Amino acid sequence: MPEINGSAHEVNGTNGANGVNGANGAGPRPRSLTLVPVTSVKQTTKDFKSDQEVRWCPGCGDYAILAAFQAFLPELQVPRENLVIVSGIGCSSRLPYYVDSYGLHSIHGRAPAIATGLAATRPDLSIWVITGDGDALSIGGNHLIHALRRNVNIKILLFNNRIYGLTKGQYSPTSEQGKVTKSTPFGSVDTPFNPVSLALGAEASFVARTIDSDRKHLTSVLRAAADHKGAALIEIYQNCPIFNDDAFLPVTDPSTRDDRLIRLEHGQPVRFGPAGSRGLRFSRYGSLEDVDATTADESSLLVHDAHAADPSYAFALSRLDTSDFAHSPIGILRSVERPSYDDLMNEQIAVARERQGEGDLAALLAGGDTWHVS
Ligand code: SF4
Ligand code: MG
Repeated sequence: MPEINGSAHEVNGTNGANGVNGANGAGPRPRSLTLVPVTSVKQTTKDFKSDQEVRWCPGCGDYAILAAFQAFLPELQVPRENLVIVSGIGCSSRLPYYVDSYGLHSIHGRAPAIATGLAATRPDLSIWVITGDGDALSIGGNHLIHALRRNVNIKILLFNNRIYGLTKGQYSPTSEQGKVTKSTPFGSVDTPFNPVSLALGAEASFVARTIDSDRKHLTSVLRAAADHKGAALIEIYQNCPIFNDDAFLPVTDPSTRDDRLIRLEHGQPVRFGPAGSRGLRFSRYGSLEDVDATTADESSLLVHDAHAADPSYAFALSRLDTSDFAHSPIGILRSVERPSYDDLMNEQIAVARERQGEGDLAALLAGGDTWHVS
C-alpha cells in the first residue's frame, strides 16, 4: 500500500482547470482528474508494481494489458493513494493485486456499483474498473449499463476473452453462437452481446475498443479515456490461451488483420484493406457498407467523427463487427461531452444545502409517518 504521509508521495494540490501542466513538467493533465491531486514526485512503471506474484496462466493476454496499464499510470501524475482500482470476479479481476495503489477485488458484477459510490463521494480519486465479459455482461450487466447511462466519472476496462476463464472454460455472453464448451457440448444457442453496441445503447459517452497485443494502441485508448470526464468503456480483446486460444486471430494475424481491422481516428478518412483501398459509406437504413475506396465517389466515403452527438453513427460502426470479425473497428468509436453523475449529484446537494441548511438525518428518519411495531 502507498505511504500516505511519506515524502515519496507529496501532493501538489489540485489542478483546478483543464489543460494545466502537471507537476512533473509533463503535458496537460487528463480532464477527468480536475479535482485529483497532482504528485510532485516523478513516477515510473515500477512505482505501480506491487510485491504480489502475478498469477495468470503463461501467455495470458492479461499480462500485456497489466504491463501497458502500469506503464501508462505515471502519465496521470496521481499520487498512488488517490488511485483506486475496483474489480469484480474473474481472471482479469485479479489485476488490483498487482498494482501498488488502493484496490478492491469486490463482488461478482458489482464493480461499477462500488466504483459509482466512490466516484460520487470522492472526486479526489482516479477510479478504474477492471472487469471481464462474464463479470460485466452476465451477472453485472445491470450495474454496467446504469453506470454508463449515468455517466459516472469512472474508466471501465472490459477484458473480453469470449469465455469464462476462471471457472475453466464455459461459454460467456460474448461467445459466438455454436461455441462448443464444457457447458455447451452441442454448441451455444445464445446470440452474443457486442459490448460496444451494448454500451452505446446504454447512452455511454465514451466507448472504445482495443487489443491486448497492440500496446501502442491500447495505451492511446487509455490516455483518451483518462481525458474523458465521465464514464468510459474500453473493450479489450484479450486472448485466453488456455480455454479460448486464438479467439481473435482474424484481427491479430498479419495475413488477415489488415482486411478485418478498421482503425478509427477522429477527423481521418476511414480506410482499411490492402494499401488502404477499402472505405465505408452509408447505405440504406443508416447502416455502413464496405466499398472500394479507389473507385468510389470520395465525397461519399466516411471520415471518422468520434464526437458526433447522435450515437447512431457510432452504433452503425459497431454493427460492422460480427462474431467472425468480418470487420472490426478499433479506436474511439464515440467520445461526447455531457455532465457526469458525480458532478450533477454534488451540485444538487450544494443547492439543497444552501436553501435548506445542513440536514439532520435523525430528524428526517423520525419525520413524517412512523410506526411502532410491537
Ligand atoms: Fe488468462 Fe485464460 Fe488463464 Fe484466465 S484461464 S488466466 S484468462 S489464460
Ligand atoms: Mg471472460
